[in-house]
Amino acid sequence: MIHQFELIQKLKSYMPEVDEESINKAYVFAMKAHGTQVRASGDPYFSHPLEVAGILTDMRMDPASIITALLHDTVEDTLATLEDIQKLFGDEIMHLVDGVTKLSRIELQSEETKQAENFRKLVLAMSSDIRVLIVKLADRLHNMRTLHYVKDNAKQRRIARETMEIYAPLAERIGMQGVKDELEDLSFAMLNPEARESVLSRLRYLHETSENQVETILFEMRKVLDKNNVKASITGREKTPFSIWRKMHMKNVAFEQLSDIMAFRIVVEEIPDCYQVLGVLHGEYSLMPGRFKDYISTPKTNGYKSLHTSVIGPLNQRVEIQIRTKDMHSVAELGVAAHWQYKQGSGSRHDGRQYAWLRGLLEILEQTANPEEFLEHTKLEMFSDQVFCFTPKGDVIPLPRGATCIDFAYALHSDIGDHTVAARINGRQVPLRTVLHNGDQIEIITSKTQSPSPTWERFVVTGKARARIRRFTRQQQKNQFFELGKSLLHKAFAKENIDYTEGNLKRAQEIFHFSSVDDLILDVGQGNHSGKDIAHALATDTKTVISAESLDEAIEHKFDTPHEDVKSPRKKKRTTLSINGLIPGMAVHYAACCHPIPGDDIVGLVITGKGVTIHTFDCDHVLNFHEPERLLDVSWSHTLDEKARFVSRVHVTFVNKAGSLASTTTMISKQGGNIANLKVTHRTPEFWDVFIDIEVRDQEHLDSIIAGLRTVPIVAQAERSK
Ligand code: MN
Repeated sequence: MIHQFELIQKLKSYMPEVDEESINKAYVFAMKAHGTQVRASGDPYFSHPLEVAGILTDMRMDPASIITALLHDTVEDTLATLEDIQKLFGDEIMHLVDGVTKLSRIELQSEETKQAENFRKLVLAMSSDIRVLIVKLADRLHNMRTLHYVKDNAKQRRIARETMEIYAPLAERIGMQGVKDELEDLSFAMLNPEARESVLSRLRYLHETSENQVETILFEMRKVLDKNNVKASITGREKTPFSIWRKMHMKNVAFEQLSDIMAFRIVVEEIPDCYQVLGVLHGEYSLMPGRFKDYISTPKTNGYKSLHTSVIGPLNQRVEIQIRTKDMHSVAELGVAAHWQYKQGSGSRHDGRQYAWLRGLLEILEQTANPEEFLEHTKLEMFSDQVFCFTPKGDVIPLPRGATCIDFAYALHSDIGDHTVAARINGRQVPLRTVLHNGDQIEIITSKTQSPSPTWERFVVTGKARARIRRFTRQQQKNQFFELGKSLLHKAFAKENIDYTEGNLKRAQEIFHFSSVDDLILDVGQGNHSGKDIAHALATDTKTVISAESLDEAIEHKFDTPHEDVKSPRKKKRTTLSINGLIPGMAVHYAACCHPIPGDDIVGLVITGKGVTIHTFDCDHVLNFHEPERLLDVSWSHTLDEKARFVSRVHVTFVNKAGSLASTTTMISKQGGNIANLKVTHRTPEFWDVFIDIEVRDQEHLDSIIAGLRTVPIVAQAERSK
């Protein structure tokens, strides 16, 4: 545990003129308030706010933040009140403590709504003063460091998941790379210890087989810089297990050599030195094409600046290098917190309003009534980078990267989106699915008669557009199914010489136990019953006049097998629970061509007489399907049964030697996957190709299994097969 004098010393090291008295006052106040309370670790509770304050001095934060850290749990967990704090420490501290308290007050629950509600409060609190978020992140960091003491495993996992989904991305957003890395890796250790262990064991193996490689690379590069009279410090740092894991996830790569997981960093004094170093390196080594990035002339949205490049360096290895000045380096490590180092004493106020992304979140917040929707619509947007586009009048419209003309149209106004027929980018007409780039000027052409198309949803990325298109297509599709049902019944009735009358429809409704005639028509339109079946039942019914009871029997007997769905709604319910957007009564199947699993973007394909088959959006089957009116807009349910499993298919190539298959299947079961089927498709003296069908929870689960497979040394390739 850090001591009072150490805290003061650390603070004084970067802020010599600090008012020691106020820090001591906060220290004593918090210590007294927490009294004999203890943490799960058995430490006195007061050790926690003290450690949080310590973390903030490592970030060289201002005294107000340090005091807030010391006091941050007093209002929530002790008898102390906000009034006490205002009286003793003034308005600024009171507001900061209040902000942090509000965030902590809401215990996070697993339900989407609660999480969304919390996120909403978080956004509101941090937008008034960004230091609230910085203190909260330090608080979370210390709680994550001590999470292993908490006994309740469900609680541990919940906290870790929340950290991964909300706090780590927020840390990244404000540029606190170090905090983000640590939060992610601590969460990773809790959420997927097996995966982390497999990365670590791979690292150990690489360290054993390639000792001193890193030292040699550093030594050689230093020599090159010296030779060219460049003054620079150069270091090599290993990426965290989690960032290695994620890289393997995203880029479908295995790491083969140590330099793959090292980031080499060269820190210089001035900006021109950065480019000089770059020139020297590119002169000495061959560069990897497409890997050079200049974040100095175009900084990232969180303020990050650096030059990135990759070369074939010493020892003929790929080497990733970041080049930056000292100032850039401190911003890269501390993000927004770094500003206090430069602006101390200037009295400038740091509220969240200067961050465009935060303003954007606030706007969405004001427009969405439902917190769940807010979460769905914002999560993606805040985590991806932005592009800035222009209207013909020159107004800037910020959009998430990957946004298309349709997103742009909806960003202007829902009505414009709904009626879009065409778009021009920089004066040239383009397809609506065209992805927008920074600086594009977009003109949207609308028509009163146009309406949203279900196919749009496949290429929009903003929550606003998606929500709007979905709402529209759901209703529209229902209407279409209804019209289709009517015409199918018309035809079928005509064949059996039955009049298409209200009376006959009513009769059919009763025979098939629908609650209304409309439901019957809709059901036929969706393809759950064929018009022929209905007409046939009616024909049989009118020919033989029998009592209602025996009629029921006759029908029951006759349609026992094909109409299982109608008679055992229970069974049907179980299969449809996972999918939103189905109209009640539909039979559901999962396509065997693409094996959709929760997390995939999906679409339903309506087949007459068979109900609906769920495919992935990018399934060839769907892409080659030319009857959009039979595509059904569906999504995975938020409340999936924890125990539900879905079959997915993985293609694995591994080295042909004893034990290979065993280590492959062991990794799958280590990651909690259950093998449903395994098929060898190709076998050479060197390699085996196998398709493995695995029962998984969802996409994330499958990704873990695949990434796990990639850490197995004999696995050459592992990929999802669709
Ligand atoms: Mn706390």
